[in-house]
Amino acid sequence: MPPPTAAVALRGLSKRFGDKVAVDGIDLDVPTGCFFGLVGPNGAGKTTTLRMVTGLLRPDAGEIVVDGLDVRHHATAVKARIGVLPEDLLLFERLTGTELLTYTGLLRGLAPDLVDDRATELLEVLGLADDAATLVVDYSHGMRKKIALAAALLHAPRVLFLDEPFEAIDPVSSRVIRSVLEGAIGRGATVVLSSHVMELVERLCTQVAVMHAGRVVATGPIDDVRGAVSLEDAFVELVGARDLDRGVLGWYGPSSG
Ligand code: ATP
Repeated sequence: MPPPTAAVALRGLSKRFGDKVAVDGIDLDVPTGCFFGLVGPNGAGKTTTLRMVTGLLRPDAGEIVVDGLDVRHHATAVKARIGVLPEDLLLFERLTGTELLTYTGLLRGLAPDLVDDRATELLEVLGLADDAATLVVDYSHGMRKKIALAAALLHAPRVLFLDEPFEAIDPVSSRVIRSVLEGAIGRGATVVLSSHVMELVERLCTQVAVMHAGRVVATGPIDDVRGAVSLEDAFVELVGARDLDRGVLGWYGPSSG
C-alpha cells in the first residue's frame, strides 16, 4: 500500500517496446509537497515513466496512484489535478501565446475572467508579455518551453510533472520559474522534474530518484542518496562511470594530421 502522504505512488510499473524493457517494474513514492528530482542517464526510462504517470502512455503492468487516486479508475479526475510539461512540447502552432493559454484554460473548465487574469499574469511573469500576440510557431525554443509551462500552471495543479523544465531557459527566466515553483510548493503543491543538470536538481530538490536501465537504483531524501559526495558523483557511481581509453577518438584534434 502506498503511504497516504504520497503525491505519486508507483508499484510494479512496467513498459516494454518490442524487446526493449523501458521501465522494469518500478516502485516509487513521491511525498506530497516536495520538489522531487528524477534523474538517470539517457534511455534510463524517465520520460516513459512520466508519460505513463501523466496518462500519455498505457503501462503494461503496475499501479499508479496520483494524489490518492488510481489513474486506471479516475483518469479524468487525475488529469484535472495534474499539470504536465512534456518533453516534446507539442503545441497549437497557429495560436498566439494568449490564445493558447485562453484555449487551455477554457478547456480546463476555468471561468473566462479567471483565465484572462491568470494568462496575463503568467505571460508577464515569464517574460512573454511582449510576444503575447505572436504565433507560437514563431516562438524560440525557450519561449515554447515557457508558454508550455504557463499552460501547465494555469489551473493551479496539485501535482506538476516537468520534463527538463530549465533546458533552453535563460538564467533570468530560470530564476523566476524556480521562485514560482517554490511558491507553489509552499502552498502545498508537489513538483516532479526530470533533469540531467545535477547542480540544479541538487539545489532545488529535497527528494530524488535515480533511474538506470528501467529501474530505480536509489531514492529518498537527496542528502541520503548523495551521502558525503556531490549528486553528480553519486549518480556516476550508481549508474557506472565510463572512462575513455586514451586512444579513443585519438584522430580528432588539429595536430593529429
Ligand atoms: P533521456 O534522458 O535520453 O531523455 P529517458 O530516461 O527519458 O532518456 P526514455 O525516453 O524513457 O528514457 O527511454 C527509455 C528506453 O525506451 C530507451 O531505450 C528508448 O529507446 C526506449 N523507448 C522510449 N520510447 C520508445 C518508443 N516509443 N518506441 C520504442 N522505444 C522507445
